[in-house]
Amino acid sequence: MEAKRQKRIVIAGAGLGGLAAACRLARNGHNVQLYERSKSLSTASGAIFVRSNAVRCFYRWQLGEALEAVTAPIRNHQTRNAFTNKLLHLAQSTPAYPEWSTDRQALQTVLYDQACKAGAIVHFGNEIIDISEDDCHAYATCKDGTKVTADLLLAADGISSRLRPKILVDHDPASLTPTRVPSTHYPAEIPEAILASSELTRSICMKPDSEDSLMWAGEGGYAIGKYNHARRLFNIMFSVQHDLDGEDRAQNLFDQTGDVRFIRNFFAPCHPILRTIAHMTDSCSQWRLARLEPLDTWSSPGRRLVLLGDSAHAMLPNLAQGFSSIIEDIDVLSLLLETRYGTSDITEMWEKLRIPRVKKLQDASTWNYQLYNSGKAPGDELTSEERNRHTGDGNRDAPFNTLAFTKWILDYDAAEETRKFIEYRAKI
Ligand SMILES: Cc1cc2nc3c(=O)[nH]c(=O)nc-3n(C[C@H](O)[C@H](O)[C@H](O)COP(=O)(O)OP(=O)(O)OC[C@H]3O[C@@H](n4cnc5c(N)ncnc54)[C@H](O)[C@@H]3O)c2cc1C
Repeated sequence: MEAKRQKRIVIAGAGLGGLAAACRLARNGHNVQLYERSKSLSTASGAIFVRSNAVRCFYRWQLGEALEAVTAPIRNHQTRNAFTNKLLHLAQSTPAYPEWSTDRQALQTVLYDQACKAGAIVHFGNEIIDISEDDCHAYATCKDGTKVTADLLLAADGISSRLRPKILVDHDPASLTPTRVPSTHYPAEIPEAILASSELTRSICMKPDSEDSLMWAGEGGYAIGKYNHARRLFNIMFSVQHDLDGEDRAQNLFDQTGDVRFIRNFFAPCHPILRTIAHMTDSCSQWRLARLEPLDTWSSPGRRLVLLGDSAHAMLPNLAQGFSSIIEDIDVLSLLLETRYGTSDITEMWEKLRIPRVKKLQDASTWNYQLYNSGKAPGDELTSEERNRHTGDGNRDAPFNTLAFTKWILDYDAAEETRKFIEYRAKI
């Protein structure tokens, strides 16, 4: 045990994970320095669902109001057949906290503003190129030669993390390389005025459809969209099962420009509603999907250099838990940092709490990816009885896609789990 004190924390990467960590940890009084390689915040766009397990944390962090201004609650998740538009499955969103839909730009702007307001210092255009540790400190060297000393370094440098092999020094480098999957996502935005100009698509921006997430399950691809009332546009993500450039481009998964003609052609055989949406899309970006194999540790031997976010556990987007699970990670870490344990003990406790849950989420997202790309609608593979089996308190061991498993994901209370863990740890 050591005296509880404000910690010096260096974060590599101002993506959604790094920004959220900077925000939370600076608000808790820590001295936070965040270094971002790019000259400004990311320009990647597209819808992002913030699931209720993360929303619960945001309310506790007293960020609920700031985020409510840029998000819309999701009432139901509709799944339709891409060719007939028939409603196949309706999942009501009934967890303890709401689920939000928003877009990346809005989310990162709020987190950035709040991090700065809380006192975090953000250095743009300065990559962390080297890191090391000793028994007392973590050290970072930046591209411009700056050297920084900290109590803890969080490497939130994304799925293609270059700091990962410097932290997991005992791991076979091949096991740390992201695995590409043969699927590409094309996020796009359609203004409300365009959507409302066709009778086929007008209802999407009107209640009740505007409150639901809409998925069209097809063959070899699908589309998921959500109307955004704050920005008066429809965020749509087209997903197609193809691998654009093979393995050689693993470092560059996101591109500003996708081929909108390809999207229109691909969805041309679909129901006129989906076909019209594809035709209304005048530009899109392009996101090749990849994931990381679950890791057994996220930290260095001295436990002062720590992977955070996609650098630790990048998962496929089909469970919409990538960002939400990072928020849980940050919540647990911030609570453990309030205890009197030393930094390396805290990191060890954090991993014990987080890795088993996140591994389950990684597995479930891969399973969902396979289901979404099988041409079947989510929920189709279960009987009504199986799907609606009594949820109780949620069950991590229930089959994926049952209500019991979903409840375990969405109603998870990271703070309560941390409190119980600290109590248990004090007894042993
Ligand atoms: C198509 C798609 C849809 C998704 N939808 C959802 C969803 O609906 N819900 C959800 O919860 N999750 C979703 N996710 C997952 C979510 O987007 C990610 O989990 C999250 O954005 C990861 O954030 P991060 O900060 O860990 O990494 P990143 O966002 O990749 O940020 C890494 C940052 O680090 C910077 N950087 C890299 N190296 C260095 C360095 N050495 N020094 C300094 N800076 C560095 C980079 O420039 C970048 O800004 C989705 C993902 C994809 C691909």
